[in-house]
Amino acid sequence: MSVPDTVTASPMIAQYLVLKREAERCLLFFRMGDFYELFFDDAKAAAATLDITLTSRGEHQGEPIPMCGVPVHAAEAYLARLIRAGHHVAVAEQIESPAEARKRPGKSLVARAITRIITPGTLTEETLLEARSANWLAATHADAIAWLDLSTGSFHTRAGSPAELAAELARLAPAELLHPEDEAAPAGHAATPRPAAEFSPARGEAALKAWFGVATLEGWGRFSAGELGAAGALLAYVKATARDAAPLLSPPRQELPGSTMAIDAATRASLELARKGRGGGSLEAVVDRAVTAAGSRLLGADLAAPLTDAAAINARLDLVAWFCSHPLARPRTRQALAQAPDLARALARLAIGRWTPRDLGQIRDGLAQALALKAQLAPEPLAPALLGETLGRIGAHGALLGELAETLVDAPPLEAAGSIRPGHDAALDALKATARDGRAAVAGLEARLRGETGIASLKVRHNGVLGYHIEVPARAADPLMAADSGFIHRQTLAGQVRFGSVELSGLAATIAQAADHALAAEAAHLEGLREAVLADSAAIGETAQALARLDVAAGWAELASTETWVRPIVDSSMAFAVHGGRHPVVEAAVRRGGGAFIANDCDLSADARLWLVTGPNMAGKSTFLRQNALIAVLAQAGSFVPAADAHIGIVDRLYSRVGASDDLAQGRSTFMVEMVETAAILTGATARSLVILDEVGRGTSTYDGLAIAWAVLEAVHDDLGCRCLFATHYHELTGLREKLRGLANAHVRVREWKGELIFLHQVEPGAADRSYGLAVARLAGVPAPVLARAKSVLMRLEANREKTGGLAAGLAELPLFAAAPASEADPLREALARIDIDATTPREALDLLAELQAQAEFKRGGER
Ligand code: ATP
Repeated sequence: MSVPDTVTASPMIAQYLVLKREAERCLLFFRMGDFYELFFDDAKAAAATLDITLTSRGEHQGEPIPMCGVPVHAAEAYLARLIRAGHHVAVAEQIESPAEARKRPGKSLVARAITRIITPGTLTEETLLEARSANWLAATHADAIAWLDLSTGSFHTRAGSPAELAAELARLAPAELLHPEDEAAPAGHAATPRPAAEFSPARGEAALKAWFGVATLEGWGRFSAGELGAAGALLAYVKATARDAAPLLSPPRQELPGSTMAIDAATRASLELARKGRGGGSLEAVVDRAVTAAGSRLLGADLAAPLTDAAAINARLDLVAWFCSHPLARPRTRQALAQAPDLARALARLAIGRWTPRDLGQIRDGLAQALALKAQLAPEPLAPALLGETLGRIGAHGALLGELAETLVDAPPLEAAGSIRPGHDAALDALKATARDGRAAVAGLEARLRGETGIASLKVRHNGVLGYHIEVPARAADPLMAADSGFIHRQTLAGQVRFGSVELSGLAATIAQAADHALAAEAAHLEGLREAVLADSAAIGETAQALARLDVAAGWAELASTETWVRPIVDSSMAFAVHGGRHPVVEAAVRRGGGAFIANDCDLSADARLWLVTGPNMAGKSTFLRQNALIAVLAQAGSFVPAADAHIGIVDRLYSRVGASDDLAQGRSTFMVEMVETAAILTGATARSLVILDEVGRGTSTYDGLAIAWAVLEAVHDDLGCRCLFATHYHELTGLREKLRGLANAHVRVREWKGELIFLHQVEPGAADRSYGLAVARLAGVPAPVLARAKSVLMRLEANREKTGGLAAGLAELPLFAAAPASEADPLREALARIDIDATTPREALDLLAELQAQAEFKRGGER
């Protein structure tokens, strides 16, 4: 964005331009009285995003200055829209009053300064945040990432390979990602470039020590240089955006690789694990029964990072089981939690200095609920270890709670006035009484003046400009104008005349003074409470997390009870045995449509680690594959699962791929994506992994596709030996059962009745008898002549196959796949020969490939 130069600017515009330079990439909200004004390109951008009128104000270098503005009282709503549209906003406030400015010699321009920078990753305001999701600010550096959520104070780092870090970023889906400005931004994230110096590991280490006031970081782990650099960049950015405020952060937690199930970006997308915006189709959205926003956030985090330690998983399952078998404790806990406000976010607002008395009220009410819940649950006999441990994290808070309860009114307002409980401070009450008495005296004065003047409609009023004044109708005003009337003329309006009087001024001064002092006293009490809360912030943070953990467990139990889910056996075996498994999201959709979901078994035991699933389109193969992946995720996240029973041996990495999904935004063709993802599995999976492959090889020609699917299947079986579900259309592959000992065939049953297909959605042992593709095509409304032609081609193919004993031979018989005579001039060969490989970028190579493929298609079409 171009910033006009200051030389020829008016004083105000010159001031604006200096601030604008400081605001860098941000839109500058320039405070002018009751409005935030935007100028120049900022005004154009904001007017377009907010759909508000673009006007102009004065001139700069002979051109009118574009301007638009938003009223201060409604600024939050406009800010929210600008941030959502990807803008950053700097707010420049007036830091003195016009009266103060006038006292200075020379110019009387009000001084302004940037007090706040708002970016997507540094939000703390309730109105700007999604209550039920975390809001991560992340930074990448070398072999590491660091991430934090200013709205709750949580702060993490981790090192890893590029693939691991990409997977981690996919899990976090950060609202904003910082990267060194001399390096390319990681794709697919809202990236903010920052000076490379801010990523220096040495600076990062010093910044961490200074921030947390420690002499060494060893107590928290051995951080890599990359982790220190990334964490340092976060702190530098937080300082730059928060200005003078001091946000609350927990010490950085180093996440160790392997402690959670590795799930890469493609798998997350394919399984639709996380809630995106307000969409309802994800696993998270369907299974979330938490009653608090903090509970929903923790549930989202648990689902995004299932554990790999069987003992920790079983501790969570014990707690869910306890809530299942204690039908009274569950609703009581959930009712208590539902009353508990969002402690973590209120605490963060208090720390960063953008708070209202209501936040103190939220802390008070949250702590009160926490203590009540602790008292209720602590004496329970036979409670699981995690319950005791979680209740132990709820602090005592007695003194603080007492102070908050004594000091604050029941429902604190958004402003200081009226937030302190009457009876708490006698001096404050006296000031308020004085103000109140003053106002009563004003009312008394009004009555007396009416009597004395005989003007029945005389009123004592108050406004911002005149303060207290006496108002009479113009026709009755004359006697009061006399010099000795005791009235002092202030203002004449069309129908009324306004006066002051010595007595009224005296009363007004008393009222104003008492009210000012009362306000100052209330503000001082509030500040004292805020300090007391912040002094206890670590313990309050723990309490908040404990409440969230109880909410998640009680929510899982609620879900398990209402949806008849069962506790899975989770151990370090290699088992994967699910009986009567269901897909929670598809089940919900099928049920909404009035149907019933058909449960299915899946047993990937030692002699059948790899299932090859066949069956027509629409039969339910994808649903079956995914439901088993979701059951593994749910179980290791610590939830019961939608099944009759389930035994899951820990899964270290989960892969799910669907053949032929496009990633055109990144310039990769369907097939390329499919192969890149398949390569990632073959190189990344271990014997402990669970791999879901849905129609691999679909994105290319039948020959290539079959060959690739075949080879991948063999590699999974022979080299990886992992648990795998492999759905395919290539019926030829079912014959591999003879060769691969650990492979079992399964198929999804359908019945053909009077030429119609009936989907039974039942998974059974053995291969499907055929593919039913034509029947599905008819269902989909493909025109009859095309169906007839397809049928004749199919019959020829099948006849040939029977004659020659294979698909390859069958295809070769068709003119479609016959090899071109070698002597014929081949434009494809010529085009290939013309390519100068050294002068071709990868992107151009892909384009060329697409072009060649298009030519080849055309050629085939011509031969047909
Ligand atoms: P394609 O090969 O075309 O991707 P598919 O065999 O993978 O098809 P799915 O997408 O899994 O089929 O399922 C198609 C639809 O069938 C689902 O959207 C759902 O409505 C229904 N369905 C699938 N499984 C079941 C089930 N077990 N019980 C009831 N309905 C089911």
